[in-house]
Amino acid sequence: METTCRKVERSCIACREKREQQQLIRFVLAPDKTIVVDYRHRLPGRGAYICIDRGCIDTAVARNCFDRAFRQKLPAQQGEELVSAVAEAIGQRLLGLLGIARKAGGVASGTSQIQAILDRGEVHLLIAAVDAPAGTVSKALKTAEAHGVKTARFADRESLGRVAGRDGRSLIGITNEQFAESLALEIKRLQQIAGEN
Ligand SMILES: [Zn+2]
Repeated sequence: METTCRKVERSCIACREKREQQQLIRFVLAPDKTIVVDYRHRLPGRGAYICIDRGCIDTAVARNCFDRAFRQKLPAQQGEELVSAVAEAIGQRLLGLLGIARKAGGVASGTSQIQAILDRGEVHLLIAAVDAPAGTVSKALKTAEAHGVKTARFADRESLGRVAGRDGRSLIGITNEQFAESLALEIKRLQQIAGEN
């Protein structure tokens, strides 16, 4: 969806690797000198860019790379806090994308409906809530894997329910291929940030 953007390259302040701007996380400096995640690259001011990678965030903190990027002495940062701020931003982006996908008619929910459309090959990504009962999701996850459908655990039942416009939902299926791809990319980023890759 961001293919119309100009492909500007930036260097990660930690590993110095050059990447397309959209492949990096942008951080800006708040007036109180705290580091703020600008996940959508929309906030004004100087930005510092870091790979979507937990290791690079930790390195940036350990080596005071933000001080150099913002050209001033900053209060010490906590790698853990930055990592959770990035994870939070990606989570919000995911929920936002899911909301748009639902309005576009690209989201199905309900355990029996999911099972039926999985069997018909209409699901491109299956998301199971992190707090979904194991019994409810294990069959659907197995069916999805048997059909080669990507699966992910993300958000809680309440949040998935809100996305589906219902009460708590353990499973939602993405039936729109493009949304499924965008969502899978954000989920992969979330795993990279959590150090799960
Ligand atoms: Zn890096």
